[in-house]
Amino acid sequence: PSLEYEFTRRRIQTNIGEIWNFFSSELGKVRKAVAAGHANTDLEETINQVLLQGAEHKRSLLSDMEHLRRSDGYEAWRHREAKELSDLVQRRLHHLQNPRDCQNARKLVCKLNKGCGYGCQLHHVVYCFIVAYATERTLILKSRGWRYHKGGWEEVFQPVSNSCHDAGTANTYNWPGKPNTQVLVLPIIDSLMPRPPYLPLAVPEDLAPRLKRLHGDPIVWWVGQFLKYLLRPQTTTRDFLTAGMRNLGWERPIVGVHVRRTDKVGTEAACHSVEEYMTHVEDYYRTLEVNGTSVVRRIFLASDDALVIEEARRKYPEYQIIGDPEVARMASVSTRYTDTALNGIILDIHLLSMSDHLVCTFSSQVCRVAYEIMQTMYPDAAHRFKSLDDIYYYGGQNAHNRRVVIAHKPRSHEDLQLRVGDLVSVAGNHWDGNSKGKNTRTNQGGLFPSFKVEEKVDTAKLPLYPGV
Ligand code: GDP
Repeated sequence: PSLEYEFTRRRIQTNIGEIWNFFSSELGKVRKAVAAGHANTDLEETINQVLLQGAEHKRSLLSDMEHLRRSDGYEAWRHREAKELSDLVQRRLHHLQNPRDCQNARKLVCKLNKGCGYGCQLHHVVYCFIVAYATERTLILKSRGWRYHKGGWEEVFQPVSNSCHDAGTANTYNWPGKPNTQVLVLPIIDSLMPRPPYLPLAVPEDLAPRLKRLHGDPIVWWVGQFLKYLLRPQTTTRDFLTAGMRNLGWERPIVGVHVRRTDKVGTEAACHSVEEYMTHVEDYYRTLEVNGTSVVRRIFLASDDALVIEEARRKYPEYQIIGDPEVARMASVSTRYTDTALNGIILDIHLLSMSDHLVCTFSSQVCRVAYEIMQTMYPDAAHRFKSLDDIYYYGGQNAHNRRVVIAHKPRSHEDLQLRVGDLVSVAGNHWDGNSKGKNTRTNQGGLFPSFKVEEKVDTAKLPLYPGV
């Protein structure tokens, strides 16, 4: 398919959601006013109907889009292209990690034990790996005394290299080092100075044309490729995952729901009710059922709060809710950094990533990691999520810009003025039709309709790995 066809198809898909966010928010407000006695009850009923029918329209449209994709004749190409691109990147990573002469190879040292959770640590290692790829240095992952497993990474996942584990002692410098530095030690992304241009959200220039054609959010695909390499399980981990799936009674279709509570709530994120997550789960299933077929309503529910699983089971008996309250109990702060809890979070992220659709908060690195891994399961899983708060981001990322494709006149003093071609640095989506950001031309900050911009995919010149 042409680039334009693929872009248009993905734009329609995004904007069907946006237009619905807008109408549901607007009509919802009117309904409230009516309920408060500002108009007669007939009007209230009318608006209710508009909302109900509007929802059905939207589901039908999304269902048609799905059908369009499956039947447009390009599906085999999408699968082939996704596999070829992934194989290429995996071969490059394998090549990078297994230098012929380890002793004299250029290396990048990364310490796994950043003082944060598993998802955050994975993102730390992926950032190191991206720097390693960009500087053609073999990644040396230091993981002894890992807070989740004292024996280190290699006892859980396959080592990042088969042949080159030792940084050696010669010629070691901290970032940015000197041109001939053999062993470079990388700090956490927050204290990286100077910052190279190839950090997320940039993707490699040589792959960008193919990625833009294939995928709705190339950076998530790119990050997913590093996770794919990193998370190759050791036999014991693989066996544990297989047993875990069997015990839970894993079956598809299934919606993955992640409810992050405990230490996150009130500090880094707001608390969202179980009902809020379930509204989106129900919407997903009603879309599957729009043509009259009936589907078993299954969810996989992961949380760091066991009560959430019990509450969901009590309130939604019509759903088959797969999840283990014991795993959730171990995820609380006091027991989080143990072997049992590590098994729990590995299994939870694995199953979330294998779901057909994700409902969660992207403020949590757990769900963002699952979403990134999900990209390795489908040619393009960019649309298979609903975040109750943030849009996708990578901690420590460079500016996230979107390009204006439709001009915008401010509707109120809160609004941005947009000209076609302007770049808007986006801060977030209010999921009501509007996003928030700053126009880089005018330096003005404010709201704008989300459908008037498109993603600007940033690229960086990276090594080409010829011969791989
Ligand atoms: P964030 O704090 O949510 O952004 O994610 P992090 O991964 O950095 O830290 C949260 C940690 O809490 C995880 O790594 C787990 O150890 C634990 N945790 C949070 N949610 C879950 C969950 O749904 N299941 C399990 N097993 N552990 C969780």
